[in-house]
Amino acid sequence: MDGWTGQILRVDLTSRTHRVEAFSEEFAYTWIGGRGFAVKILYDELAPGIDPLGPENKLIVAVGPISGIPAPNTGKTIVAAKSPATGGYGDGNLGTRVTDQLRKAGYDALIIEGRADSPTMLSINDDRVEYLPADEVWGKGTIATNDWIYARYGKGVGVLNIGQAGENMVRYATVRSLEGRSGGRPGMGAVMGSKLLKAIVVQGSKAIPQAFPAEMKALGRDDLKAVRAMDKEQGWSVQGTDGVLPWCNEVAALPVHNFRGTHHPDAWMVDGERANAVRVATYGCPNCTMRCGLAIADDEGRESELDYEPVGLLGPNLDIYDLAKMASLNYLCDDYGLDSISAGNTLGFYADAIEHGAVEGDLRFGDAEGFKKVLGQIAHREGEIGNILADGTLRAARAFGHGSLAYAMQVKGLEISAYNCKFIPGMALAFGVSPMGAHHKESWIITYEVKQTERGSYGRDKAQKIIDLQRVRGGLFESIVTCRFPWVELGWGAEHYPIYFNKVTGKDWKLEDFWPIADRIYALMKLFWLREFPDTDRSADFVPDAWFDPDNADTEGPIAGLHLDRDKYDELLSHYYDIRGYDDRGIPTRATLEQLGLTEEAARAEAYATLT
Ligand code: SF4
Repeated sequence: MDGWTGQILRVDLTSRTHRVEAFSEEFAYTWIGGRGFAVKILYDELAPGIDPLGPENKLIVAVGPISGIPAPNTGKTIVAAKSPATGGYGDGNLGTRVTDQLRKAGYDALIIEGRADSPTMLSINDDRVEYLPADEVWGKGTIATNDWIYARYGKGVGVLNIGQAGENMVRYATVRSLEGRSGGRPGMGAVMGSKLLKAIVVQGSKAIPQAFPAEMKALGRDDLKAVRAMDKEQGWSVQGTDGVLPWCNEVAALPVHNFRGTHHPDAWMVDGERANAVRVATYGCPNCTMRCGLAIADDEGRESELDYEPVGLLGPNLDIYDLAKMASLNYLCDDYGLDSISAGNTLGFYADAIEHGAVEGDLRFGDAEGFKKVLGQIAHREGEIGNILADGTLRAARAFGHGSLAYAMQVKGLEISAYNCKFIPGMALAFGVSPMGAHHKESWIITYEVKQTERGSYGRDKAQKIIDLQRVRGGLFESIVTCRFPWVELGWGAEHYPIYFNKVTGKDWKLEDFWPIADRIYALMKLFWLREFPDTDRSADFVPDAWFDPDNADTEGPIAGLHLDRDKYDELLSHYYDIRGYDDRGIPTRATLEQLGLTEEAARAEAYATLT
């Protein structure tokens, strides 16, 4: 089948057995790959109510039809499972050599089931699958684990691994790859840890099936050059994603002091320009000519690769404006394998709860050494506080009580990324309606909203724009599997992706042919949620009360006195549901599901919950 290997490798860690399963052309064209494959497999194979940290959960590693093909930014892989953070569907993508090695080994996806009886490294080399002891690196961080694997296999292999946070099942532990990339915010590293799976190593030697390989090669080469030229002109790879920080500060969208503030005069001290001035290295994912990984030395001289979201949440959100100290917190998150977004958010929540007397403690905002210590406690679930905070802000707020839920900046149990939406209704709604919790990757409407529309408006056009962005980012890019940055940052047109798709599959698809697939994927993520939470209602799609609270509004600056309007947010939510064909609870109606070809999936959901 051109475009896909047509095979999935299913591995059972409990019995140490595996088998290769073929999938049909119909499955391929219905779900495309990556997130599409993952959500379909998890929906079909997981019984509702299973413990996401139990052996019944399954870890999916999936790529798409253009993955690993030399073309702009095709080096990404999806990791997915039932999320330990939200209880719903969860996934993430990361740049890794697993992407092309998995396809060269002959697979488009892995399904990893069961639980090993001791720390294990799964090795896949074409048809050969081995379950190797990983006791030597169990208890070690991702950096030492990477080195251990490099020493054993060399640097050309594909690797996914976890640090102590994954081993200890911190609910926001991530998966890391050899290139220093992270993915899987909603606890995909914890799922690996729950299976005693320390690492996955993939090597392959076969050709990736393509309809027109020579044409694709020439096109990919030209387009990689074109993206590099656009990047040189626009300077994206100079400051990396941290280049967006001054804008967030200027428009009052920065998280400051656990999202209480939106801007700060010292923010420039941790921005991309400042970081670039002390750059020590540059990193990128495979097949990328706009390498955005900007690394600096932390306060102990260790290399720490920065992105805007970790900088925002480990810097201004914790009142830390010393670049090297902030980089040190970032380094620790990376080495422990903690999601630095949720980690920074959780530390801010804890400091805020202490400041307001909801919980006893001596941690204060600005105390980088204190935050480092707590990060270590979280990664190891050490002591009562480490154990509580390892479960994320929502569960920690429930454990602390005393009104501390007011300080938990999360949606559906996943912490909000570094965009403070006190007065940015569309971006707030994008966080709210994300079926995975508050993740910015689904619909990053913020720049469009602030630059091109009336910022405080709640019009139907914003709901439509959120859906448009979800279709491209969460639907097309996550299923075909590619990095979104050339499109977001350089204006590299989305119409390039159907061209690549057609070159590898031999089809003649247009961009709009992907939209029903994107909608199907989102609808199935919602059905997954409904089966887990049959009593769900629209409140699940609301953002924290703090953003609606007039007493929490800024007292000075560009949005002084302004805050989200709860009734208007509710109206905007109704527009979103209406355009999507969802009911008042935010669940796709039976008619919508039928239209998307999900009749059978809908029937199975009805065994657990009501559809309208
Ligand atoms: Fe990776 Fe950044 Fe390149 Fe995207 S732009 S593929 S995240 S290095």
